[in-house]
Amino acid sequence: MNLILLGPPGAGKGTQARMLAESHGLVQLSTGDMLRAAVAAGTEIGVQAKETMERGELVSDNIVIGIIAERIEEPDCASGFLLDGFPRTVAQAEALDAILMQKNKTLDAVIEIRADDEQLVERITGRFTCAKCGVGYHEVFRRPLNDGICDQCGGSEFTRRKDDNEETVRSRLQVYHAQTVPLIGYYGGNGRLKSVDGMLDIKSVNRQIEEALAGLQV
Ligand code: ADP
Ligand code: AMP
Repeated sequence: MNLILLGPPGAGKGTQARMLAESHGLVQLSTGDMLRAAVAAGTEIGVQAKETMERGELVSDNIVIGIIAERIEEPDCASGFLLDGFPRTVAQAEALDAILMQKNKTLDAVIEIRADDEQLVERITGRFTCAKCGVGYHEVFRRPLNDGICDQCGGSEFTRRKDDNEETVRSRLQVYHAQTVPLIGYYGGNGRLKSVDGMLDIKSVNRQIEEALAGLQV
């Protein structure tokens, strides 16, 4: 099964992607994670992307399309993948369709996670991540069971993203409305789009997505 998780920053794409990757044996492909890894490693792509990401703007279509085209070819993607944060523009969606067609792959569903902007600012400014295993937490909505210790791996170091401040979040939301919302129409026309209410708690959102997936003929 190949899926896209679509939604504004902070909607819960990464949180749900991890859960779905585990329950369905899918590989999570987050262009944001890949770009942050490139920035940390100081690769050519990382150097090109760094400032754009810090401003909360979109990295060029060519860069992210190239990254995804290569990554989808890897053997671990053969049994299914889940795109988290890609595509984000109509040009990226068109390129993805062409890549999938060329590789004889199909897109089974696009899951849109809907949420209100004000809630998203609160979610993103309270987000932190385990430095060791990458599990995401929130100061209010998803605290580790034992303060300061990751539930998943026992790690005790946590990181916050440089772009998770209120000012940058607001520009990322504007970018989402201007450049990514048109994808809802793009995918809505052919029955692939399934929308869920991202304002509910994490488990309820997961339940809605699982229900939408159960209705698919894959
Ligand atoms: P995205 O990948 O869409 O940017 P995340 O999955 O990182 O979003 O979620 C953003 C923040 O909100 C994280 O701190 C996460 O723990 C929290 N979160 C995710 N889903 C929910 C939810 N349904 N209700 C409350 N908080 C949530
Ligand atoms: P994310 O981790 O999905 O919130 O993405 C963090 C940042 O990485 C974004 O604000 C963009 O600067 C960049 N980015 C991630 N995915 C894409 C994409 N598909 N297209 C363009 N830029 C992206």
